[in-house]
Amino acid sequence: MLAFDNSYVTLPTSLWRRQRPTPIQNAKLLTLNAALATELELDIAWWHSPEALAGLAGDGVWPGADPVAMKYAGHQFGGWNPDLGDGRGVLLGEIISPQGQRLDLHLKGSGPTPFSRQGDGRAVLRSSIREYLAGEALHALGVPSTRALAIVSSTHPVRRERMETAATLLRVTPCHIRFGHFEWLFHSNQHNDLRDLADYCIERYYPEAKAQSKPYMGLLEGIIKRTAKLMADWQCQGFAHGVMNTDNFSIAGETLDFGPYGFLEQYDPYLICNHSDHNGRYAWYLQPSVGLWNLNALAQSFTALLSIPEIELALAQYEPQLVKHYDQCMNAKLGLGAVQDGDRDLVAGWLALLQRAKQDYPQRFRWLSEHDIADLSTDDWGVQAAEVQQWLQRYQQRVEKQKAVDYSEPERQAAMQAVNPCYVLRNYLAQQVIEAAEQGDAKPLELLTQALQSPFTRRSELEHFDAAAPEWASCLSISCSS
Ligand code: AMP
Ligand code: MG
Repeated sequence: MLAFDNSYVTLPTSLWRRQRPTPIQNAKLLTLNAALATELELDIAWWHSPEALAGLAGDGVWPGADPVAMKYAGHQFGGWNPDLGDGRGVLLGEIISPQGQRLDLHLKGSGPTPFSRQGDGRAVLRSSIREYLAGEALHALGVPSTRALAIVSSTHPVRRERMETAATLLRVTPCHIRFGHFEWLFHSNQHNDLRDLADYCIERYYPEAKAQSKPYMGLLEGIIKRTAKLMADWQCQGFAHGVMNTDNFSIAGETLDFGPYGFLEQYDPYLICNHSDHNGRYAWYLQPSVGLWNLNALAQSFTALLSIPEIELALAQYEPQLVKHYDQCMNAKLGLGAVQDGDRDLVAGWLALLQRAKQDYPQRFRWLSEHDIADLSTDDWGVQAAEVQQWLQRYQQRVEKQKAVDYSEPERQAAMQAVNPCYVLRNYLAQQVIEAAEQGDAKPLELLTQALQSPFTRRSELEHFDAAAPEWASCLSISCSS
């Protein structure tokens, strides 16, 4: 049983419409996120009850829920679209976590809403599983992300490139307010409502801004800082979002709305994981600049609240924040402490080698972390072996400096292993568990979830999850349709 406490519906009605879910046929609980349920001290037995299933399947509404479809707009692939909003999901309401955090419960795939345009209001099982896995993987890597508590499968047919079945996913996260919420109110000249939204965001997500002489400046700076950190996290962890439209950007700096995302396997900065992104607008290496582009789109809406020089001052903080966080995070991945002169160059040299030698991004960090530096053999680096040897010498010198300060070789290895995953959400692994789930077998999904939820510790029963993609997976193509 959930204790709802709904605040979003106190916002102006320009930002939402009441909308009951439409049930899906023959709903079945495919998976419950036991780790998240435990964190939230939810009653796991209740989540297996018919009452819980009915609410998850959109067949009725749990007591206290007040489902609404959110209205927002956004820039999609650089083009302005005023007609967006929750087209296939509803905010059921909010609960307060045992830690006192206010969390949204959003049911994705819950049927048509006033913002569905031509869409059927549904999410397919495949994309629901992909969203579930990505949320767990990112969260475990320390990257802010929405998470999901449960997936319900069904026999409800939906047409995408082929016929598939619909699913629902219960998303649990502090924030569903997007850059596009602000853009919607600004560009439709509803500036009083925009002020109300800004006040709400300060109260709920950036309370520290209240103490500033200009709270709206504090809000904008807060969003910029968290977005900069998120972009740095994505780059360090090798995450490619795929659809970085402003309607998919959370004002709380969390990864939101998973479509054709990917994690870097073979290191290729030019990775475009969305096959509909023909111009490579959202190629992996461009993500930090797209983050700034999106913040500029958001900042335009803040011209209703702040002066242009103030906004420019806030935006100027993006790059230094991003670089600072990126440098710290990459230093940690290499087992180095505080950033010193020359470290950025060392990191760049390593990445260049990974790229030239077409190496697996996560596996090569583990390689560095699982051997004494002196014992590392470069035999399997092909023509790059000599350059890798040179780089290792520089690395070893840098590590020696670190050791003089505070730690031994085993400590370096342990520190690196604590931040470099051995279990990574590779596309082929997602594909395998999806195929099993489509046949009604959720066991592989549960095992992969376990691996991703604690990705830094090798376990013998999960050994098969640490391999690079097999030959057949090289042609896996992830489309935008979900
Ligand atoms: P996305 O690319 O998933 O972020 O979606 C962009 C917009 O299209 C959002 O407003 C979604 O709610 C809407 N949308 C996506 N898929 C569907 C669908 N199957 N039915 C209705 N609306 C959808
Ligand atoms: Mg979206």
